[in-house]
Amino acid sequence: MTLQVARVVATFGRHSLVREASAADAPLRVATRRGKKGDVVVGDLVHCSVAGEQAAIESIAPRRSLLFRADEFRTKELAANIDQVAIVFAPRPPFNAHFLWRALLAARAARIDALLVLNKTDLTDGLPLAQAALDQGRALGVQTLALSAKAAPDDARARFAQATAGRATLLVGQSGMGKSSLLNLRVDANARTQEYSTRLNVGKQTTTATRWFDVPAADGGGALIDSPGFTAFGLAHLSLAARAQAMPDLAPLIGHCRFNDCRHLNEPGCAVREAVDRGEVAPARYAFYAELAAEALRAPTY
Ligand code: ZN
Repeated sequence: MTLQVARVVATFGRHSLVREASAADAPLRVATRRGKKGDVVVGDLVHCSVAGEQAAIESIAPRRSLLFRADEFRTKELAANIDQVAIVFAPRPPFNAHFLWRALLAARAARIDALLVLNKTDLTDGLPLAQAALDQGRALGVQTLALSAKAAPDDARARFAQATAGRATLLVGQSGMGKSSLLNLRVDANARTQEYSTRLNVGKQTTTATRWFDVPAADGGGALIDSPGFTAFGLAHLSLAARAQAMPDLAPLIGHCRFNDCRHLNEPGCAVREAVDRGEVAPARYAFYAELAAEALRAPTY
C-alpha cells in the first residue's frame, strides 16, 4: 500500500475522482472516503492509500479557502482551495444584479478574490445595463473583464487567460450566461467532463456538479473549476452582521452607529442610513442590504 497526495477533481456520493497532485497529467483514480460521508469537496487535497486499483481517502489536508452558498435548508460547499471566483454574466438572457452582488459577498466573506466577467459584449440589446453592473462592480473594488467568448474568441481567450493564469479560478453564474464557452476557451471541458463521468460511472449526473480542470503549464497553469448554473445564490450560512461586513461600501460604516447592535434598518443614529441620506452609499446597494436583512430576520442563520 502506498500513500499519495491527490487533488479531488469531481465527487459523486461517497466516491471522489482524484488525480495525484504532483503531476497534472497523472492518471485519474476513483477513491472512496473511509468512514465519514460527504465531507470531501472538489479542490480538496487528500491523502489516499492506494492498493492496486483500490484507493481510499484517509484524510483531507487543511483548506486554504472554501466557498459556500446556502439556502434555508442546507449549506453547500462549492469548492475548496480556490484563489478567485469569476462571476460570469451577460446582457442576454437578463441577468440578476443581486445574484452578482450575492456571489461577490460570498467570495468576500470567504476571503477569496473576485473577478466580474461580462460575457457576450457583442449583444447590444441589454448591454448598457450589463455595462452599468460591471461599472458598479469596479466601483466596489472588484476586478472586471468584458469580452465575448463566441464573437471574439481569440481576444477573449487572451484576456481571460491573463486574468486566470497560475490561479485556481471557480466560475459561477446564472444559467445561460456562456460560462461553458468561456471555460472551453482554456480547457477542453466537455471531453474532460465526459472522462470524469465515465470514470465515476455516473452517466450525465456529474456534468451538473462542480468539476476541477487543471490548466497545462504551457497554457499558463492554474486551474478552472466549473460549477452548476443556478438561479439563486443563497447566503443563509452568513449572519446579518457578517453580510454587512462583507459589503465593501457598508463595512467602513459598521461600528459607527449609536447602538452596538444596530441592524441598520430603522434604528436612530444609524451611520449606514445617514451615509445613504448623504448619497455616499448607492440607494440600490442599501435596498440590497435591506433585502438581505429581511431574509436573515425571516430565516435564522445556522
Ligand atoms: Zn446602523
